[in-house]
Amino acid sequence: MRIHYYLDLDDKTHKIKCRKCGHEFCHGSENYKLHAPRVDKYPDEVFGVRPPREASNVIYHEYYCPGCYTMLDVEVTEPDAPPMWDIQIAIPPPGK
Ligand SMILES: [Zn+2]
Repeated sequence: MRIHYYLDLDDKTHKIKCRKCGHEFCHGSENYKLHAPRVDKYPDEVFGVRPPREASNVIYHEYYCPGCYTMLDVEVTEPDAPPMWDIQIAIPPPGK
């Protein structure tokens, strides 16, 4: 079942998988971003007129598939913020 532009939920295993390369991230009850490489970019590293990093309160967090390097999501949050949920599936964790 498709759950995201680039992610599927496997109907049998309930694992979240990349639609392009098949990489398995985690069980569907988890936040896939905890299992995806995250790149931190300051606003002054992004094209366009942006404030200098000393004056910025936010950072861009880019999440990628480790199998095919497809960018999955970009968040703009405080620098040390944990990954946000962009999709939360209502299924019990494995073994429950
Ligand atoms: Zn992939």
